Amino acid sequence: MNPFDLTGRVAVVTGANTGIGQGIAAALAAAGADIVTVGRSPTDATQAMLQGVRHHDIRADLSSATPTAGIIDEVVAKMGRIDILVNNAGIIRRADAVDYAEADWDAVIDTNLKSLFFLSQAAGRAMIAQGSGKIINVASLLSFQGGIRVPAYTAAKSGVAGLTRLLACEWASKGVNVNAIAPGYIETNNTAALREDAKRNADILGRIPAGRWGQPSDMGGAAVFLASSASDYVNGVVLPVDGGWLAR
Ligand code: NAP
Repeated sequence: MNPFDLTGRVAVVTGANTGIGQGIAAALAAAGADIVTVGRSPTDATQAMLQGVRHHDIRADLSSATPTAGIIDEVVAKMGRIDILVNNAGIIRRADAVDYAEADWDAVIDTNLKSLFFLSQAAGRAMIAQGSGKIINVASLLSFQGGIRVPAYTAAKSGVAGLTRLLACEWASKGVNVNAIAPGYIETNNTAALREDAKRNADILGRIPAGRWGQPSDMGGAAVFLASSASDYVNGVVLPVDGGWLAR
């Protein structure tokens, strides 16, 4: 028995058309999982990576919680069950705290925190009913640190860490593991502005013990671990995958 084998498990990954979500979807599929991609944009590139994998695609805008219950209903109707939920979809809006706009605050909190909770609630109901499930939230280094110029993002990702622990406490005894991955600085659309700023880029690189930005594929091992029976006694953890950033 390979404890990391995901054969026959149905995994839902939000925001899987690009970046970290795409990397996690590919890793879960390579470990044997069936994949449901959920997002607002076409997932052509991801679907090309999932050739030969049992796969379903759901178009949904997670800037509000409205579609969350329907998403899980559709997953169960099309795939028969839900074993793994990866709450990856997220946005970032940057401005100095003194200038931060209410509309940016609401957009970031609604997408990164509110929809994550209500999608977890809907998935959790199905998982509790079947007596098993794995929920993996994508947190951030800003679940641990303050950061600068991203007040709503830091509030949301700190909230994601808290919710991860709360849901783990409520659902661990029901066979549902809730954990999070905290990516370090990963080369995706989310961080393009940082890499284009030569000074920020050099400052960030200079602090990463691994000496390089992360790739979306670097999240795959942690995702497979937290999605598999290898992590059955792991509950409420926020696992940094950051090239050593937090160790510095
Ligand atoms: P990304 O390439 O911008 O991916 C974000 C994903 O979320 C995209 O698929 C995006 O879809 C989706 N999304 C955003 N708003 C959505 C909405 N309203 N409805 C449905 N889907 C929506 O950035 P990423 O870096 O891979 O980010 C993935 C997650 O990792 C986020 O939660 C982010 O906060 C987190 N994270 C990233 C880093 C990093 O260094 N990159 C570090 C820590 C945490 P569209 O393509 O349609 O926008």
